[in-house]
Amino acid sequence: MGHVFCIANQKGGVGKTTTSVNLAAALARRGHRVLLVDLDPQGNATMGSGVDKRTLERSVYQVLVGLSGLEEATLRSESGGYDVLPANRELAGAEVELVDLPRREFRLRDALAAAPSTYDFVLIDCPPSLSLLTLNALTCAHGVVIPMQCEYYALEGLSDLANTIKRVHANLNRELRIVGLLRVMFDPRVTLQQQVSEEVKRHFGEKVFATVIPRNVRLAEAPSHGVPGVVFDPRSRGALAYLEFAAELERRLGVAAPLAEAH
Ligand code: ADP
Ligand code: MG
Repeated sequence: MGHVFCIANQKGGVGKTTTSVNLAAALARRGHRVLLVDLDPQGNATMGSGVDKRTLERSVYQVLVGLSGLEEATLRSESGGYDVLPANRELAGAEVELVDLPRREFRLRDALAAAPSTYDFVLIDCPPSLSLLTLNALTCAHGVVIPMQCEYYALEGLSDLANTIKRVHANLNRELRIVGLLRVMFDPRVTLQQQVSEEVKRHFGEKVFATVIPRNVRLAEAPSHGVPGVVFDPRSRGALAYLEFAAELERRLGVAAPLAEAH
């Protein structure tokens, strides 16, 4: 099934969905076959990929509760060049329903395993919680990418996430590891952000990606057009940063880009 990564941070508004959508599109542009799984009932990754969450016949919800296979529920992001397993508000109910189902922490993992493995990358956009949905992402992932803003309380929340990842690693998924921390919405003019960035590097060392995603309005505008930022305005600073991030991720994993063009 290629590399399965979840994009997680239990805080909301820290750039998980922006990172998921733009990393998916950047990897697709570099020639990889990518599946983006939207695991947030808000369905922002779905909409940001140009898939209308209001008109879905099937979604990740049906897959999780066993009413649909993964392939039948998967749609294409024409704008992004990748596949999407979409989500909408229905998914909020899954949290309760999953509790009584067998292998409740492994529903997504089992669904992925049952589908033909044609993807180089599967990216899972997690909800802003350490819920059963997030657990389903962590049990099927090889790694976690953690987007973070360099703000005062950023490190505090990270220890809860790191502990959850440790527990899942120990009890449910020996393959799970932190791939890295990605600094997003970065504004180098803000002294506090520089300081927190240095502290993050001291604390997490080489787990911090070298690529930094700047605060860039084009990334924020793109979702309302249903187009990933890296496609919406490929020359914007935000798009270039996500393209560089995809290249850095490839280098870390030691995988080649089928279409690595110079952007
Ligand atoms: P999360 O999925 O963690 O809740 P989002 O990716 O939805 O976070 O980002 C929260 C908000 O910040 C969104 O409005 C998004 O458009 C905006 N945003 C995210 N990354 C950037 C960036 N690098 N520059 C500017 N705005 C950004
Ligand atoms: Mg989100």
